[in-house]
Amino acid sequence: MYGGPGVKTDKDFPIPDTMKAWVLGNPGELKLTQKPIPVPKRAEVLVRVDAVAICATDLEIIDHGSPALIQGGKPFNKNFTPGHEYMGTLVALGPGVDEYKIGQRVTVEIHAGCGQCKRCREGMYTSCHNYGLNYGEVDKGHRANGFTTDGGFCEYQVNNINTLVAIPGAMSDEEATLVVTAGTAMYGLTELGGLVAGESVVVTGPGPIGLLGVAVAKALGAQPVILTGTRDNRLQIGRELGADHVINVRNENAVEAVKRFNGGKGVDYVVECSGAPNAVNEAVYMVNRGGKVCLAAFPHAETPVDVAHIVRNNIYLYGIRGEGKSATHRAEAFMSQKRFDATKIHTHTFALDDLPTAIRYAKDRVEDAIKVVVKARGVAAHRVAAE
Ligand SMILES: [Zn+2]
Ligand SMILES: [Zn+2]
Repeated sequence: MYGGPGVKTDKDFPIPDTMKAWVLGNPGELKLTQKPIPVPKRAEVLVRVDAVAICATDLEIIDHGSPALIQGGKPFNKNFTPGHEYMGTLVALGPGVDEYKIGQRVTVEIHAGCGQCKRCREGMYTSCHNYGLNYGEVDKGHRANGFTTDGGFCEYQVNNINTLVAIPGAMSDEEATLVVTAGTAMYGLTELGGLVAGESVVVTGPGPIGLLGVAVAKALGAQPVILTGTRDNRLQIGRELGADHVINVRNENAVEAVKRFNGGKGVDYVVECSGAPNAVNEAVYMVNRGGKVCLAAFPHAETPVDVAHIVRNNIYLYGIRGEGKSATHRAEAFMSQKRFDATKIHTHTFALDDLPTAIRYAKDRVEDAIKVVVKARGVAAHRVAAE
């Protein structure tokens, strides 16, 4: 019988004792298992996961471990369930929770900070100083589902209420999984960057965060918004999401083209989403004096940086980790007002049982896949679950 002290459930949303959950074995190896359904504590809820999108960071974690941090180390063979870009329906409320109702649809932010450290107190809970340290004897309340605690490649997950974003009935499950991606772009441009309407933006790399970075920048009133990349089909989607100009870097020099499109000058902001070997230097050559470069990609190799150029030109360079300062709520507001159509980057949906196939589509860009979503219900499975 599911439950715990002070936990509210509803007979219209029955909760079984166990659930399907994918767990990470050795690097690159996912296994479908059964896990007990977690019980929400104070200020937590149980989310029935209705859809979960695959992110490049999931692929990174599944193959290389970092930036997941489980019990002080890499996440392999620790019964860890990855997946962080999910949405669903609330089916149980922890003790004292009255901010949300059972049956309500929500999407989730990833990081529930500890609420006690310097960065959490500043609203930068994605940079919580207790990241990954909440295990064993230590209970700081920190969770980053899919990174330091179990994530969404399963049927149910516990979330702190401060990670919940209510969504309207008209927003599809698939679109709702994209709110956190748009929220990350929002955080980089406004909370960390300070973008105001009328400033100029370049986004380098038309992956999901780059494409939604274009959409968010345009919705914020940036002018012009310029997207660079190597694939014309993705650059075309960038145009549909609001890019004023696109540059295929295989055909022309990106720095020269940016300046040409911006009246001969560098732009105010570059959001670097490509992770390409010379991307940081190209970004600092694309911004104007005093401009800002937000680094949002994870390159595998060390990257050369023209420090002298940065110093001489007072350029700001900052990394971004996730979606702090409730930027996700503002991204959701844009999406529910249809200021841009994030569904343009959703390309495929598979059953939860077909997660390995879904991951292959995302990783190898099969059929030009961009955002691939898996759902535990309502999508026929192609493979027989190994149970
Ligand atoms: Zn992600
Ligand atoms: Zn903290």
